[in-house]
Amino acid sequence: MSKKGAIIRFRKGYRFLSNFYDCEIEYEGRIYSSVEHAFQAAKTIDDNEREKVWDCTSAAAAKRLGRTVTLRSDWEKVKALIMLELVRKKFQDEELAKWLMSTGEMVLVESNSWHDKSWGVCYCEKCDGKGLNYLGRILMHVRDELNAKKRLGAMKWAYDAGNELNQGYKNCQSLWCPEDGRKGMVWQTEDDYWSWDVGHDRGRERTMDLAKDKVEEIVRG
Ligand SMILES: [Zn+2]
Repeated sequence: MSKKGAIIRFRKGYRFLSNFYDCEIEYEGRIYSSVEHAFQAAKTIDDNEREKVWDCTSAAAAKRLGRTVTLRSDWEKVKALIMLELVRKKFQDEELAKWLMSTGEMVLVESNSWHDKSWGVCYCEKCDGKGLNYLGRILMHVRDELNAKKRLGAMKWAYDAGNELNQGYKNCQSLWCPEDGRKGMVWQTEDDYWSWDVGHDRGRERTMDLAKDKVEEIVRG
């Protein structure tokens, strides 16, 4: 089911992975036009300088201006966490989240030729594919978080469905059967399907079908 391989260029169909991609990012009271804008502004605590970065008409211009701002003293310590925060915000957008999840299990690599071996991997002759790929790792981390959230959504639905079927009974998460007192549970099968069992044959057929349809819809998008 999962796409394997790697995406090493954030261009064309994968341009949305780039920090230069146009999208609204709220950060400390301003709405920036890209992750790059917000990240460059975050480098300084001088509000006038931040405003100038905010005002840049392109992400490239924001990046250039970011080289001249008064760097906050803790920048080296906080920059990776700020990047994570901004990338998370970016993928709160439902459509962007879908696109990111559609990359399956592909390894995401911010490749470049300008020797950025911290956020990405440089493929110039000298660097020869070396780099820590922090941005790629952050993107994959946010993708993992989105997938986990989706699964939790499916699980919550199963609980709610259990609630509905066992109306009037408490402790629905463990799905007590009202007639024989047996306990059912929600679980995930090896195929990544969420499934459940109320521990009661009569209720089971119906709930299994219901759960399977609904959960497939949620989990597979
Ligand atoms: Zn290089």
